[in-house]
Amino acid sequence: MHRINIANFLSSGVQFEEAEEDLAFRVRFLNGLILIAITSALLFVTLDFFGVNMLGDWQLVFTELHALVGALVAIWLRGRKQVYTAAAWVILISAFLVFSSALMLVLSDEFRLIWYFIMVVAAYVLLGNWAGIAATVGPIMMVAVAKFNFGIPISDNAFTTFILSLLVTSGIAFSYTRLSNSYFERMTANVNKLRELATKDPLTGLWNARAFYDMSNRMMSLGQRSTSPHCTLFIDLDHFKSINDRFGHATGDTVLRAVADCIADSCRESDIVGRIGGEEFVVFLPNTDANGAMQLAEKIRQNVEALQHTTPDNEPYKITLSIGVAHKSPSDHSIADIQRRADVAMYEAKKQGRNRVVLSAA
Ligand code: GH3
Ligand code: MG
Ligand code: MG
Repeated sequence: MHRINIANFLSSGVQFEEAEEDLAFRVRFLNGLILIAITSALLFVTLDFFGVNMLGDWQLVFTELHALVGALVAIWLRGRKQVYTAAAWVILISAFLVFSSALMLVLSDEFRLIWYFIMVVAAYVLLGNWAGIAATVGPIMMVAVAKFNFGIPISDNAFTTFILSLLVTSGIAFSYTRLSNSYFERMTANVNKLRELATKDPLTGLWNARAFYDMSNRMMSLGQRSTSPHCTLFIDLDHFKSINDRFGHATGDTVLRAVADCIADSCRESDIVGRIGGEEFVVFLPNTDANGAMQLAEKIRQNVEALQHTTPDNEPYKITLSIGVAHKSPSDHSIADIQRRADVAMYEAKKQGRNRVVLSAA
């Protein structure tokens, strides 16, 4: 038997991302309103049954219909956060209709217009400023029609009070919604900026060492159960110090950026490319065997060698790199284990004369 889980009901069973905090709140709020509509309908039916609070047959039916619409919307929304906006509009319109039928039918209730105030605030929270404005104008027009066209007894004083106080409520909700939206947007932008700073290398835009190790280790532990092959390339630029020494550090940086772009362009979307040292790059290749890794390494070597660089005096020159390739062995538990062997293979490439690819024997 399923246990009734209120938190799961309120979130429509949806797992929200960190950046969807705002949507998560609105979905919970909408489901909370639906729960209130259903409970209220039950309460009204019970009170009517005992003759304590008579709504009249038609209004009772409309109240039950509103609760039914709420139940259907809650079912529709389950697991489908993409239908949230449409769902919220359906509830808003259904609420407007049931409050308007109360206005026309339950003449004995002098306070029934108060429902519209709840609706205005809910509209701002659920759907933002345009819906809030619509939820302000709609009731004012509805009450005017009820008073002037249908002769529903509403005194001139009550009518004025209603319009003014609804406008004030709407104004307060409007400014608070704007403030909270701007807070949320600023917070999201700041979180994104922080994430970028914490994970990206500012010079090349590649993953920094920490992000590279985190992502590669996660991929490795995912692949652990499925014995999929993984490989790592360790890339070091040849005689890079002399570029700095001859043309200056700024030119060195330009070369580093061009090489980083070239490496990233040579790889697939699913490969993880990081800059882990000054002129040292690593590539983690998920689901790639040693053969595939060697082919990619050779492609990177050729593409970087083919790049045209020019000195500040417009002299053309070339840059090359040495690459060590290692594949995951059954005893490897983290990216560091594979990388150690790729590093040794890279030094072997340097020893053999640079500008080449060497596969780790182990
Ligand atoms: P080798 O072929 O043996 O690798 O020779 P190398 O000169 O590349 O030697 P090594 O890898 O030890 O030298 C790294 C040099 O890279 C040292 C430094 O001048 C340069 N470097 C490191 N980080 C940066 C950087 O962010 N910008 C620039 N312009 N140069 C850097
Ligand atoms: Mg180096
Ligand atoms: Mg080097």
